[in-house]
Amino acid sequence: MMDAYETLIIGGGPAGAMTAAVLARRGRRVLVIEKEKFPRYHIGESMLPYCYFPMQRVGFLDKMKNSRFVKKYSVQFVSPNGKISAPFYFTQHMDHEAAQTWQVPRAEFDALLLDHALESGAEVIEDTAVKDFLVEDGRVVGLAVRGADGAERELRAPMTVDASGRASLAISRFRWRKMDPVLNKAAVWTQYKGAMRDEGLDEGATTVAYIPDNGWFWYIPLPDDIVSVGVVAEREYLYRDGRDLETIFHREVKENPWIAEHLAPGVRHTDFLATGEYSYRSEFCAIDGLTLAGDAFAFLDPVFSSGLFLALRGGEMAGEAVDAALTAGDVSAARFSAYGEELCAMMETMRKLVYAFYDTEFRFKDFLMKYPELRGDLTDCLIGYLEKDFNPLFNAIAEFVDLPQPLAHGRPLVPCP
Ligand SMILES: Cc1cc2nc3c(=O)[nH]c(=O)nc-3n(C[C@H](O)[C@H](O)[C@H](O)COP(=O)(O)OP(=O)(O)OC[C@H]3O[C@@H](n4cnc5c(N)ncnc54)[C@H](O)[C@@H]3O)c2cc1C
Repeated sequence: MMDAYETLIIGGGPAGAMTAAVLARRGRRVLVIEKEKFPRYHIGESMLPYCYFPMQRVGFLDKMKNSRFVKKYSVQFVSPNGKISAPFYFTQHMDHEAAQTWQVPRAEFDALLLDHALESGAEVIEDTAVKDFLVEDGRVVGLAVRGADGAERELRAPMTVDASGRASLAISRFRWRKMDPVLNKAAVWTQYKGAMRDEGLDEGATTVAYIPDNGWFWYIPLPDDIVSVGVVAEREYLYRDGRDLETIFHREVKENPWIAEHLAPGVRHTDFLATGEYSYRSEFCAIDGLTLAGDAFAFLDPVFSSGLFLALRGGEMAGEAVDAALTAGDVSAARFSAYGEELCAMMETMRKLVYAFYDTEFRFKDFLMKYPELRGDLTDCLIGYLEKDFNPLFNAIAEFVDLPQPLAHGRPLVPCP
């Protein structure tokens, strides 16, 4: 008997919806199983210019252009004394409409993208949680799910994609979580209404505002006069006086005059939220019948807004790899070797940049004074153009800071030859 679906996708966030859209547009029978009822809140609003290309490939751009999402043209950095650097405009580097990207309230964006997957031909069931993987002879053959009514059932398909985000079902079930050896941060955040916005093109800028001791604030303008604002720092630093999130947040606001001034006219609009477990990568990206995408595979400190890009581009790549595996009639883990290699390579590029960001000895400004010819490569990283050779850039940065060795894990689990 033929399975009803060729692929089951756990999670309807950006990675799952993108994988589903790619597969459905190729005529594949796909089912997305989402635990929540969309729209639902999610953190992570700031896009990179290169998010444009995966969205273009699944025909989603018109919906973005017709949306009310705030247009983002730039990133700006604020030092701990509140002094702002000249904004970095993407148009200075990119003569392409992708240079204008967006700040997206995730409840709306994720619902729009999941609807797009539906329109592309995928099936979606919400309010349904995946409880476990069905595993036979070391191969994932389906999922055990529980619907809103509490009823449990089994679904079977030749392929499953885990796009469950930071819940990371496969990582938990198979004990594959490997924390980054250095990037151990935590974040506390909220939203404000009526806080100050910069003018003109800078109204939609992402602002990264440093606090002393190696932490930083994000300040992201959203529609309806809302701003997403949060602080990231070492866990021990943030929680040094206790665990009350409001106290922590307001204590840190005082550490940067630009943030204090911008928040002053606003009122807090949502509760405080927090997260730890900042940077991890799964030991494997695939076993027979299963592959991982988005945060379900790996999470990198989001200081350069790489999460959405990696979810969208990774979802696109996962969709293509699954399609090729289904066409070949071979869904073994080895089919996902190129996928794992390419994804890990992109992540390593971003990861090196994140390490440099947190190194107290390193200043991007000083680096560019010595190596002005590498400005283009640096900018390519910052806009999400990660699929190129960055050796010249990182060989030069390595003169200033200790860069991490690439992590050895993240490839498919294939039997030893
Ligand atoms: C503090 C913080 C700030 C961030 N800021 C940014 C930013 O500015 N820019 C940026 O690009 N990225 C940012 N990120 C990262 C970004 O949020 C993620 O990388 C992105 O959401 C990943 O998308 P995803 O589809 O992999 O996972 P998600 O968006 O988390 O989607 C996963 C989906 O799976 C569903 N799910 C989970 N478990 C189950 C289950 N058992 N059964 C069924 N469904 C399930 C969930 O309900 C969810 O809808 C930030 C992250 C954090 C923590």
